Amino acid sequence: MTTTTGTDVAHAALLLKQGAVVAIPTETVYGLAADAFNEEAVLTIFSVKQRPAFDPLIVHVRDREQLHRVAEVPAEAEALIARFWPGPLTLVLPRRPAVPDLVTSGLDTVAVRMPAHPMTRALLDELDTPLAAPSANPFGYVSPTTAQHVMDQLGGRIPYILDGGACTVGVESTILGRDAKGRWVLYRPGGIALESIEALVGEVHAPAQAAKPLAPGMLESHYAPRKPVHVGDVPALLRRFAGRAVGVISFRSEHHAHRCEVLSPEGDLSAAARHLFAVLRELDTSDCQVIVAERFPEEGLGRAINDRLRRAAAGR
Ligand code: AMP
Ligand code: MG
Repeated sequence: MTTTTGTDVAHAALLLKQGAVVAIPTETVYGLAADAFNEEAVLTIFSVKQRPAFDPLIVHVRDREQLHRVAEVPAEAEALIARFWPGPLTLVLPRRPAVPDLVTSGLDTVAVRMPAHPMTRALLDELDTPLAAPSANPFGYVSPTTAQHVMDQLGGRIPYILDGGACTVGVESTILGRDAKGRWVLYRPGGIALESIEALVGEVHAPAQAAKPLAPGMLESHYAPRKPVHVGDVPALLRRFAGRAVGVISFRSEHHAHRCEVLSPEGDLSAAARHLFAVLRELDTSDCQVIVAERFPEEGLGRAINDRLRRAAAGR
């Protein structure tokens, strides 16, 4: 299959109506989209990504009407929706029966969000269906934040990549669900800072161990480059790997190493998040033998950065 990249929203819409999967830009990362109600198309997402069926997808909706087609919306969700949608917040809500089991991995909940990227909003306007979309990368690898990242890995496997430029948030959405007591729980830190959410709805809890769905957003090893990743005190790690070609990922300061990528000299965590995945990919394809990253401040988008780095480093 030949993969083309372009900005033709009508062409992407036509392919999706025909049951194809298409890579789409969102403000978080690029998604691999299919009509959420077309089971065969959704199945194609899993085979293209080599994603296990136990990992549910996020449904991307255009508006309230589509939201109500896929989920029941508790009154407690209204403030979050009003404040953060469209945007990088995913809510795990009770599902409607019409949502294919494949989308939710058979769970009685569905993960749903309203994307903010103008091109994908224009695409949703041309369709009459919400889009199921995980990140547009092979299962377990770093998520793509440019059309070229998608082409590098999924070229030849999908017909079209809708190119909406570099993602402005750069890490995946924050995922919130509710526990049995109706309290909000954080399934994944992401593009909306936990502090902003708690300012609106009060304390957000950690999911109970038993309530954790078996989903790779939550798996220990995920978002991982091929090269070994180590997170911690950079000078100490540089001493440990002395004599090897080390690529450093640093928040604001330069380190003397084979390669050093500073994510935000100004110390802006949102800017750092925006650059994180491109830098991970770049070091992974460079001549570095080891990737070393510092621990970021555990606040704002720093939580999502630390979460992705920790999972990238897991099991090494
Ligand atoms: P991705 O779109 O690749 O970021 O993956 C979507 C992630 O959303 C999954 O890996 C899960 O962590 C999470 N997710 C999707 N549906 C649910 C659900 N019903 N309950 C809990 N988490 C979910
Ligand atoms: Mg993913």
